[in-house]
Amino acid sequence: MVNDNIFKEVNDSYTLSEAVKEAQRCLNCKVPSCKKGCPISNDIPDWIAQLAKGNFGNAMHIINSRSNLPAVCGRVCGHERQCEGNCVLGKKGNRINIGKLERFVADFDSTAGLTHEAIPEKSRGRVAVIGSGPAGLTIAGDLARQGFAIEIFEMESEPGGVLMYGIPEYRLPKEVVRREIKKIENLGVIFHLNSTVGEEITIDQLFDQGFDAIFMGTGTGIPKRLEIPGGNNKAIRQAIRFLRRVSLYESGLIDRREVIVGDGDRVFVIGCGNTAIDAARTAIRMGSKEVSVVYHRTIDSMSALRSEYDEAVAEGVKFLWNTSIVKINAITDDKIDTIVLNIDGQEHEVDADHVVMAIGSAPAARIVSTTTGIEVDEKGYVLTRDNPYGMTTRKGVFAGGDVTNRPATVVHAMRDAKLVAEGIARYVDAIKLLATIECDN
Ligand code: SF4
Repeated sequence: MVNDNIFKEVNDSYTLSEAVKEAQRCLNCKVPSCKKGCPISNDIPDWIAQLAKGNFGNAMHIINSRSNLPAVCGRVCGHERQCEGNCVLGKKGNRINIGKLERFVADFDSTAGLTHEAIPEKSRGRVAVIGSGPAGLTIAGDLARQGFAIEIFEMESEPGGVLMYGIPEYRLPKEVVRREIKKIENLGVIFHLNSTVGEEITIDQLFDQGFDAIFMGTGTGIPKRLEIPGGNNKAIRQAIRFLRRVSLYESGLIDRREVIVGDGDRVFVIGCGNTAIDAARTAIRMGSKEVSVVYHRTIDSMSALRSEYDEAVAEGVKFLWNTSIVKINAITDDKIDTIVLNIDGQEHEVDADHVVMAIGSAPAARIVSTTTGIEVDEKGYVLTRDNPYGMTTRKGVFAGGDVTNRPATVVHAMRDAKLVAEGIARYVDAIKLLATIECDN
């Protein structure tokens, strides 16, 4: 286990009195623009009003009615572009810190053990959920509350997907993810860990076990490659795998040497989304002496949050705008010597130890290749329909999250998953009704 503080969470929580005071600033607008800005339509003014009166349990109940992961959303959502970005008080530069309040309510509820949701009777049908990232957990939480028996199949030894292995500890502590997952487990959801659908078990076998519907929230596991001279060098790291290794190292599960990046290295991160910034800030924490983010457009086009960018700059990450990587010169097939960058049309050769790719990834074919009837597009993304929402070309198999190429952030994956959960509920209710009619006849 890492024994220093380099991964300590960077943003502090409110104290109880600070949270209540902040909540009391809310105007409780009749037409709350903050709620419109929230992708999952969280009833923000309602729970803030309860918090302002010190009714923490009520605040939690209201949040739970829309979100399964409030302690996560309170930390990693793009509040500046969503709820907070729409708060009317923002016009005077004094918007309510909605994310920090949501995080406070969720953390306070967990530590004080305030709310206990009753386990609903599981009478509406059985649903298998493959993958336990934000989409899978949302489906599980929503459907379990509605009376479905849910079993999650997760290939890793711990649930959480990108929340556990893709977002660094300093932004989202693993203990917070574990607490949120525990709440979902408390709804009666069963987790099968180290269980890879498409290897140990197939979709067809899950149907044979009696599941009425199956949800694929398996994300994207095949990173995009760098199509340039030297682009096959083994020293090119994939951001998501680098973050995963750091996460495993930080949990004490692998040795420091297996992380590879760090200790005086010069690191170039390609791409400028939140994963790129996570990788850059993590490389700094691992001791890299020079970390640069290489982006082919300007700051105005980056998909990363401005607050993440500001914090990265404060920690020493450099940003190279209008820049692309055009060549990698290697010493061996797993050691980089220099890279050639095209900056504003001029080529520059610079020393480099690692290139970290953060330009996205595509779905693995493990599940669709081990069953029939699930069609994908030319890039491997699973095709789904709108009625019932999220169903693939195979009856009873639904998909959502990154594997369908729709959502881009944790909360957008959750919004999409909530719609898919409605689609699954409608589908299972319909087949059960049909079965009853056939029996009666
Ligand atoms: Fe409160 Fe701002 Fe939402 Fe109005 S817009 S209800 S002030 S958080």
